[in-house]
Amino acid sequence: MMLEEALKLLKKITEHSYDAYIVGGFVRDYILGIESNDIDINTNATPKQIREIFTDSCLPSEDYGSVTVMYKRIRFEITTFRKELTYVNNRKPVEIEYINNLYEDLIRRDFTINTLCMNKDGKIIDMLDGRKDLDARIVNTVGDATAKFSEDALRILRAVRFATILDFKLSDEVRKGIKNTKELLHNLSYFRKKEELDKIFTSPNYKNGIKLLLEFGLDKELEIPNLKKVLDSNTSSLIGIWSILNVTDKYPFNKNELELIEDINLAMTLDNLDPMNLYRYGLYVNSVAGEIKNEDIKVITEKYAKLAIKGKRDIDIDSQTIMKELNKAPGKYLKEIYEDLEEKIIKGELVNNKEEICKYIKERY
Ligand code: ATP
Ligand code: MG
Repeated sequence: MMLEEALKLLKKITEHSYDAYIVGGFVRDYILGIESNDIDINTNATPKQIREIFTDSCLPSEDYGSVTVMYKRIRFEITTFRKELTYVNNRKPVEIEYINNLYEDLIRRDFTINTLCMNKDGKIIDMLDGRKDLDARIVNTVGDATAKFSEDALRILRAVRFATILDFKLSDEVRKGIKNTKELLHNLSYFRKKEELDKIFTSPNYKNGIKLLLEFGLDKELEIPNLKKVLDSNTSSLIGIWSILNVTDKYPFNKNELELIEDINLAMTLDNLDPMNLYRYGLYVNSVAGEIKNEDIKVITEKYAKLAIKGKRDIDIDSQTIMKELNKAPGKYLKEIYEDLEEKIIKGELVNNKEEICKYIKERY
C-alpha cells in the first residue's frame, strides 16, 4: 500500500535525524478516501542531504528546492521547509530560503486543506485548522485570501480546481479574494493557466467548475470568451471543450491537438451523418463535433460502422492491377483514380469488389 511505503520513507529520513512529513494533496485525499498518484514530503533536510540518503533513486528535478525520489515504484516529491521571499509579477517566487520550522513552511502554502501533515507513525498533524475545513468541505486560504492570490495568481485557479475536483465550496474569504485579484491572471503564462484548466475540464464535475469560472467572470480574464457555450454542449472530452473555446492562437497545444481542434471545428459546420464527412474526418472527430451539437453519438457511430471502406487500403484493388488494366506506367493519374474510387464506393455508387472496380476503371478511364 502506498501509505505504508510512504511511512517507511519517512522513517528512513528520520533515522538520519531529520524531520519529515507527508504534506498536502496526499494527506488531504487520504482523509477523503481518494487515491493519489504522487506523494509530497516536506523536511528540514536540504536537497543535498536528501540526495545523500537516496543516492540510487533520485530523479533529475525541475525545481531546485526539491528532490524527486522513486522509492518502491512511488514518486515522492521531497521539498525542504522554506520561506518564499520574493514574488515577481504574481508568479512563482524567484528566491526561497530554507528554514527549520514546519509551521513556517505550512503558512506559506495556499489552502488550509493542503497544510495537513502526517508523521512517520501515521499521525495527522493539523497546525492550521485544515481538518475543520476539510470536514466542512471548504476551500479556504491560509491567512488573507487577497494577499495569497496577489502573491501568486495561480492560486485563484487552484481554488477553483480543488472546489471542482473535490466538490467543495469556496469560503467567503476566497470569493472576496478572487473578486479583488482576478485581473492578475493576465500575468500568468498561458501554459500554467492551461495546466489548471485541463484539470478542471477533465473532472467529472467540470460543469460546476465552469459555472464557478463564469460566476467570477474569469472567462474574461482567461480570454476564453466561448466558455459559456461549453455548458450548452454535451461534450465532456477535453479536446472537445478546447475546440469550443477555440483559443489556439493563445494557449499552447501540440501539433496533434491543433490538427484535431481544427478538424473538429470544421466538422462542426458539416453534417456528421454524411458518409463522405464520416470517411474523411473519421469517427472521433465527427463524434466530438456531434457531441458539441448535442447529436446522438450512437447514430453517428452506427453510420460510421456501415461505411463500405474506412480508408484507401480497404479498396479491393491495388495500383499494380490498375496499371495492368489500363496498360499504363505509374503516374499521377493513379492518385486521381483512387480518389474517384473512394468517393464512388463511399457514396454507394460502386461496389467494393475487384471485378466491379476493374470494369468501372476500364469504362471510365
Ligand atoms: P494534486 O497533487 O492532487 O494536484 P496537491 O495539493 O498535492 O494536489 P501540488 O501542486 O502537488 O498540489 O502541490 C503540493 C503542495 O504544495 C500543495 O498541497 C500545497 O500545500 C503546496 N502548493 C502547491 N502549489 C502552491 C502554490 N501555488 N502556492 C502555495 N502553495 C502551493
Ligand atoms: Mg501533489
